Amino acid sequence: MQRVAFIGLGRMGHGMAGRYLDAGFKVAVWNRSKAKAEDLIARGAQWATSPEDAAIDADAVVTMVADDEASRAVWLGKDGAAATMKAGTLAIECSTVSYQHALDMSRELTARGLTYIDCPVTGLPDAAAAGKLTLLVGADAADLEKARPFLTPISTTIRHFGAVGSGTVYKLINNLMGAIQIAGIAEGLAMAEQAGLDMKLVLEAVETGVAASPQVIRHSKRMAARDFAGATFTSSLRHKDAAYAVRLAESLLSAAPIMGRAAVEAYDRAKAHAPDADEGQMIEIVSQPKS
Ligand code: NAP
Repeated sequence: MQRVAFIGLGRMGHGMAGRYLDAGFKVAVWNRSKAKAEDLIARGAQWATSPEDAAIDADAVVTMVADDEASRAVWLGKDGAAATMKAGTLAIECSTVSYQHALDMSRELTARGLTYIDCPVTGLPDAAAAGKLTLLVGADAADLEKARPFLTPISTTIRHFGAVGSGTVYKLINNLMGAIQIAGIAEGLAMAEQAGLDMKLVLEAVETGVAASPQVIRHSKRMAARDFAGATFTSSLRHKDAAYAVRLAESLLSAAPIMGRAAVEAYDRAKAHAPDADEGQMIEIVSQPKS
């Protein structure tokens, strides 16, 4: 039976770890706060006292934590997973991290004889729990083949962008476009409200117009209704992704990526307002009427 160590049981990681249990893997789990692991333990997961403990005898270690800082802590910090991983073990980073961080982790973990792939995901927590994520992979082709049995239980689509880091490049592009679209629809709806337009008609026009995207359609109704129940993606995470993406854009493009910077600024304010609230609360940030 293949053994997976799963680290990070937040909104996404909890469901992903459950998929390995459903698929018959032996699963060791660790999360900074143990409460999120209780039902997985009841389903057969083995609780580990640290990432280092979880990684003992693992064939693959999968991480799904918040950001660069958390990722470094669980791989290479005190009690980090790398300490006990055997040479050749797969290190699968599913967290959305910065491009430079993915390269740094690859270099540092490869130097320890481990096989690192960056594998950020798209899909909301319900897709994570259902094994229906899309994986955006950066890896040598041979490493991807080695990793494939550990990727199949959590995904319906695997997109291989190229060498290590390339999955993260695309993920950051994807999420920067999302950040711009969400901030854009918030601004548009706030303008419509201030101008006194019929919001039912506005929503109908948005959803059927050429500027609609799945992201815009998903957020517009909720924003207009100020319905932010059940946060799936927080302002804090969106700010982090947009900031990592703008840093990458600035390293690749000579023209200033002004749109991306504006989105980072907008999410900086949304994060300061309510970091763990749904990213759709952007409407509350932009809807202050001009005095
Ligand atoms: P989340 O619910 O906030 O979970 C974050 C996880 O990171 C938790 O397990 C948390 O532990 C852990 N963590 C944070 N700081 C840590 C630290 N310093 N050391 C160790 N662990 C730490 O976030 P999520 O929505 O599951 O997102 C996880 C990752 O997936 C992020 O990189 C996010 O950008 C990406 N993502 C999210 C979505 C989505 O729809 N939510 C979609 C695609 C990708 P605690 O439980 O103890 O706080």
